[in-house]
Amino acid sequence: MVRNTSFFTLLFLIVFSTPGCDSVDQTQRPSNPILLVSIDGFMNEYLDRNETPNFDRFIQNGTKAEYLIPVFPTKTFPTHWTIATGLYTENHGIITNSFYDYELDARFSYGPQEGPNDERWWGGEPIWVTAEKQGKTAATFFWPGSEASINGVRPTKWMDYDGSVPDSVRIDSVMTWLDPVGDVQADFSTLYFSFVDSRGHAFGPNSPEVDEAVREMDDLLGHLLNQTEAVGLRESLNIILVSDHGMAELSEDKIIFLEDIIDLNDVDVIDWTPVAMLRPKEGKTEEVYRALKEHEENYSVFLKDEMPERFRFSNHYRIPEIIMMADMSYTITSRPFFEQRGIIAATHGYDNMEPEMRTFFAAGGPDFKQGVVVDPFESVHIYELMAYLLRLEPASNDGDPEELLHLLRR
Ligand code: AMP
Ligand code: ZN
Ligand code: ZN
Repeated sequence: MVRNTSFFTLLFLIVFSTPGCDSVDQTQRPSNPILLVSIDGFMNEYLDRNETPNFDRFIQNGTKAEYLIPVFPTKTFPTHWTIATGLYTENHGIITNSFYDYELDARFSYGPQEGPNDERWWGGEPIWVTAEKQGKTAATFFWPGSEASINGVRPTKWMDYDGSVPDSVRIDSVMTWLDPVGDVQADFSTLYFSFVDSRGHAFGPNSPEVDEAVREMDDLLGHLLNQTEAVGLRESLNIILVSDHGMAELSEDKIIFLEDIIDLNDVDVIDWTPVAMLRPKEGKTEEVYRALKEHEENYSVFLKDEMPERFRFSNHYRIPEIIMMADMSYTITSRPFFEQRGIIAATHGYDNMEPEMRTFFAAGGPDFKQGVVVDPFESVHIYELMAYLLRLEPASNDGDPEELLHLLRR
């Protein structure tokens, strides 16, 4: 028995100390830099109906997902923070774009005002903090949450959000940061572009205006790829293009007026549409929930504790007692708001498994397979993928470290 044990111990040591085997300390191997690019509100079908030579070239030389599954709710801040941290919404706490936290007694809102730079909002550890803490250099040119310090750590370079900064300036700046003989020599960088999403909201996903935005984005990608070549990064830079959610057309015939169903004095409305997050006043939960359940048409209503597990949207104190989710293309609003403002052409935020909310992922560079289309996957795994590529020890997160290894050449 003793002999067998020591034989297996010896075998174990030989196998697991062999170079190239999985137990090799990944953090010791040299890594290629990553540029993570978000194209807000970008849908896969946009590529099918437009001439996009630069996307085509990028995808032919890299790996594309059939589609990317965002987290719930499919709004910009929760979805981007999941990509950065590998956490589901209930574990990172950015429950929507704008919300009130009754414990902090403060409002999180993504405009330039108070709030988001305060690190108390942001649960989890974003990849740029993981990188900085382990001796790598991160440089972000916009990403939701990148303006806040997390546990006292910030990217070496970061920018306060300013949507008016021209997109080509963003690209050129990031290229100087990534330049292998430049001052920064970033190992990890981000870019963020909002205009495809804005055009989608204003004109709808099937509009000529969105098509024009997609062709503009293709030109920008062309510029990015040329610059990558110009600074000598073509062979070494891994570029990950992602989007955060899709876009769905709205209709004036598909309106749910909340005050027709419940007394608005009985609740605080944390967010309105397409997912109304309702915080009932003291003792009102039962009554409000019953009324919503009785009229449950063109939406689904859940008590926080009964929210189906797949949404990963129960276990956070910021999530209020009642969640009312509009069916696709429906808007939840109030009569005065609707009379004053009407509705916009399109939006997102719906159930993350709805086809309209599916989004985009493609990656290229030395570590990615070429010319491959892989099955859809959840955005929660991208953090682990980036940590692996950068040879970082990942922080605790909800992603599976094995889930995306099939995208890599290895
Ligand atoms: P949404 O309202 O979900 O469509 O969010 C998209 C908008 O979020 C963009 O048009 C920007 O105005 C805004 N945004 C994106 N990133 C940031 C950021 N880092 N800080 C503040 N606002 C941002
Ligand atoms: Zn977005
Ligand atoms: Zn949007």
